[in-house]
Amino acid sequence: MLGAMQDWTMRITHVIDHAAREAGQREIVTHWADGTLTRTNWSGVRTDALKMAQALQALGIKKGERVASLAMNHSRHLVSWYGVAGMGGVLHTVNPRLFDDQLEYIVNHAEDKVLCYDAAFQPIVDRMKERWTTVEHYVCYDSGEHSPAFEDWIGAQDGNFEWVTGPETDPCMICYTSGTTGNPKGVQYEHRSTLMHALAGLQPAAFNFSASSVMLPVVPMFHAASWGLPYAGAMAGIKFVFSAVNDPSVLHNLMIDEGVTDSAGVPTVWLAHFQYCDKEGIDLPPLKAATIGGSACPRFMIERLMKNGTRVQHAWGMTETSPIGTVGGPTWDWDQLTFEEKVDKTAMQGRPTFGVELRIVSLDDMSTELPRDGETSGALQIRGPWIIKRYFKAEEDAVGNDGWFDTGDVGIIHPDGTLQLTDRTKDVIKSGGEWISSVELENAAVGHEGVLEAACVGMYHPKWDERPVLFVVRNEGSDVTADDIIEHLKPLIAKWWLPDAVEFVDDIPHTATGKISKKDLRDRFADYTLET
Ligand code: ADP
Repeated sequence: MLGAMQDWTMRITHVIDHAAREAGQREIVTHWADGTLTRTNWSGVRTDALKMAQALQALGIKKGERVASLAMNHSRHLVSWYGVAGMGGVLHTVNPRLFDDQLEYIVNHAEDKVLCYDAAFQPIVDRMKERWTTVEHYVCYDSGEHSPAFEDWIGAQDGNFEWVTGPETDPCMICYTSGTTGNPKGVQYEHRSTLMHALAGLQPAAFNFSASSVMLPVVPMFHAASWGLPYAGAMAGIKFVFSAVNDPSVLHNLMIDEGVTDSAGVPTVWLAHFQYCDKEGIDLPPLKAATIGGSACPRFMIERLMKNGTRVQHAWGMTETSPIGTVGGPTWDWDQLTFEEKVDKTAMQGRPTFGVELRIVSLDDMSTELPRDGETSGALQIRGPWIIKRYFKAEEDAVGNDGWFDTGDVGIIHPDGTLQLTDRTKDVIKSGGEWISSVELENAAVGHEGVLEAACVGMYHPKWDERPVLFVVRNEGSDVTADDIIEHLKPLIAKWWLPDAVEFVDDIPHTATGKISKKDLRDRFADYTLET
């Protein structure tokens, strides 16, 4: 026997319908690349999304087909999130920072039919047009010079359109991971997974949105679904302030002028904002909350924001997890903690939202479950309704028989559920059968004032299997030596973790998303041998 409640398929169109109906006048502000400011609202976004859905159908785009965006954060990009899903299509948010070979691969692999882009990316389009074999139509979001202008293109429609319906497991968006090895892999989100993920993001333990929230997301709409913010924000009917440029002075002024209460971005974004405020001799903006993730949020950043009265929500996730896995909302004992203890707790990666299950398993056999004791570290695995099952077009599932997805991260789970990441599975160093965290070594090293950046990799050692070697970029003007760094590390880490060598380099290679590429570093030093 079934229950007797109403049918209500979990489709994204409900989200935009709700926002337009219940918060129709709540503003969506955009600062465009040319410096102009425009304002629309949730009602306007819905109307434009209906027109876009109609325009896509007029081009012959069918249910399930991919429509790409190559764009920064702005209201027309937001319209596309709802317009493409509303006509049953799948939005492929292309990361403009990828290398040409990756851009070629992902657009062709996704078989994108239409590509909507910012005028700022015209050079990419000009360069790639010949190589993108499936794209039939180009639309430019903010200029009509080389392709039809978005406003004219959707403006030709009357918006009299019924959202396309179907099962809630229909796909609605695809994001590619930039991957440090091999070709990028597509992660295809569903209507249902997206909706559930956004609901989880709303709650006080995560983004803590309410109708009075004003959010300026710096995390790009082309990266990991902008952490689900465009959906969660619509559910709560918040005001959005978008900026198509990431210049800290623009972001800062927008935050002040538009009364921004919340923002979200990777640590480097916040660092740039600090530097801007220091240079100008001004205060940080009076934000209520800052969500920081994508890579580990350093302690000094947490301290400074907290002293500014800003709640720091340190989050962990990946493209494969939609992306929210854990978020660092206040714990039950928060009010009893000292300032230092609060900073310590926030420097960890937070706790799983409802819907996400985490476990750590032995790095040796990748299956024995390890205790959540706040000490033991292991390979981090995850499962839940918005976690990947299979990569786009892959022949095999990306999860084991027991349904767990292996994140490639290494961490510790504390008894209160807090996740503490310590490394990546590929980067953790095995010395004499014991594991050394390359990340902890790096964090300790960058605490030295002469060190700008540090990367630690395991190098072959005949006796110990692998031993850590630390590659260091010196700060400008610094003449720090290897011995200075070893002395600095001694009180911070176990003796047997001390690197066997410290090598100074001019630069450390990074991936397209700005993370240290240990693969490239290892390739560069493929002939390196340790003195034994
Ligand atoms: P890509 O860099 O390929 O685009 P993702 O953005 O999905 O991929 O990156 C996910 C990875 O980023 C995680 O597996 C983890 O290693 C790292 N990461 C994300 N958030 C954090 C965090 N808060 N602390 C440390 N590492 C993080």
